[in-house]
Amino acid sequence: MDGIVANAQIPQNPLMIDPQKLPEQAAKVAQENAKYLKKLKARKPKKLDAVMTKLHNETFQKIDCLDCANCCKTTGPLFLPSDIKRISKRLKMKPTQFEATYLRIDEDNDKVLQQLPCPFLGADNHCSIYEDRPKACREFPHTDRPKFHQITAITAKNVAVCPAVFAMVERLKSELPL
Ligand code: SF4
Ligand code: SF4
Repeated sequence: MDGIVANAQIPQNPLMIDPQKLPEQAAKVAQENAKYLKKLKARKPKKLDAVMTKLHNETFQKIDCLDCANCCKTTGPLFLPSDIKRISKRLKMKPTQFEATYLRIDEDNDKVLQQLPCPFLGADNHCSIYEDRPKACREFPHTDRPKFHQITAITAKNVAVCPAVFAMVERLKSELPL
């Protein structure tokens, strides 16, 4: 990225950011990230997926999702028909009953949670339906998926939700300057 310098306002170890303060910290780098991620999408660097896999693995070795659970508290997953079938079976509910109890249709016509934090999140940050959780939960925050350049828009949003994504994007800007 042209002329990127270390942002003195960002804590040295972004993984130490309190998830509740993440939106505030993310706002400070939002413009810079938008510019960088736009270039990333356009240029599709050959090394991108390899660099992201490394950053993803290194970051999640240092962060324990059970200390955070911010994604479960502040953004819910979308529920696919296969998720609804599997989870309602686990809960011994009819799929229609499960949907009426927990889900609503959002502005994109996706089935999402009626309420946040997620009703399946325990006080100890464990997921009570972990083995059967939605595909979107299993894949969040998507930072190890191939063709990472295709998900720059969602990554820009997730910087304000997930401390791991915040940290990865900060490192990506240094490791893959554009
Ligand atoms: S289903 Fe489980 S993993 Fe998914 S948001 Fe709810 S608590 Fe989190
Ligand atoms: S995926 Fe990100 S937001 Fe969700 S619990 Fe883990 S570190 Fe927190």
